[in-house]
Amino acid sequence: MIIQLAPDADTDQVKRALVAAGLWVTALHDGNRRVSHFSVSSASAAVAAATLMCIPGVASVVAPASVHPRVDASPATVNVRGVEVGGRAKVFMAGPCAVESEAQIDAVAARVAQCGAQLLRGGAFKPRSSPYAFQGHGEVALRWMRRAAEANGLRVVTEALGEADVALVAEYADLIQVGSRNMQNFSLLKAIGRTGRPVMLKRAMSATVEEWLLAGEYLLEHGAAGVIYCERGIRGFDNATRNLLDLGAVALLAHVHHLPVVVDPSHATGRRDLVLPLARAGLAAGAAGVMLETHDDPGRALSDGPQALLPAEFGTVMTALHAGAAEA
Ligand code: PEP
Ligand code: MN
Repeated sequence: MIIQLAPDADTDQVKRALVAAGLWVTALHDGNRRVSHFSVSSASAAVAAATLMCIPGVASVVAPASVHPRVDASPATVNVRGVEVGGRAKVFMAGPCAVESEAQIDAVAARVAQCGAQLLRGGAFKPRSSPYAFQGHGEVALRWMRRAAEANGLRVVTEALGEADVALVAEYADLIQVGSRNMQNFSLLKAIGRTGRPVMLKRAMSATVEEWLLAGEYLLEHGAAGVIYCERGIRGFDNATRNLLDLGAVALLAHVHHLPVVVDPSHATGRRDLVLPLARAGLAAGAAGVMLETHDDPGRALSDGPQALLPAEFGTVMTALHAGAAEA
């Protein structure tokens, strides 16, 4: 961004006002060695051109056209059937990796609601690295999950794995999840956008923040009611934890782009004992909420058992996170 100064501007005063607004600026000089413009670093805080125009001495503001204008203009909150994500209150989404049976989802939903989460998560269509691994129960799982959520006053978030599932998932879900492996499946993004539902967009394992935001732009351009970004860990060089939770990206989305972003410490770490510290870290970095995997019997889980919180442990984690959120 370039800021042009009026001929009679008090350069020092303008600079002080720009710095106070959170901008990193470099002075540019004209042929008479006078400061005529300030160039603004892209690492600066996001401040609207209209706000900068109010500073005495600023003549014009030239901002390069954004590649994701709808994302830039989107509000900091997304409404998921009455639950506001990105507002003052932190939002918790929890449930099993996969919906495995009616009894399982009933038991988990009751616990999730009892511990104060607002959304029930669970996969009916599962993206699995191996074609021989459990793929999800499909439509019947959606039906079980919807019923369990209704019975416990919860909203439903679940993944649409392919274009063929979108209409069906939209019938049952309040929030449609795009999985990390699908973040750049552009035909899927368009189809999900066209449902007009809010979407939770998981970051792909090797996506840059810009690519993540552009995927959000696809959803908004095609009609999504809002996009919640989910940081679930990216691929690092070290497999000591399943993934690497990118807290810098969380802070960037929350504090610079003013977008609703949630963290998923379950997929980020792959181990239940690390879920609480990373959930806390995510909230401290500016996350609007947390997605957690929990299971009534993780030892028998058909997917992601090692990262699923045990029912009692889930209660402890939720109590700790609620206490932290209240203090913040
Ligand atoms: C999930 O949340 O169920 C899931 C498969 O996560 P991810 O797409 O982040 O791997
Ligand atoms: Mn999982």
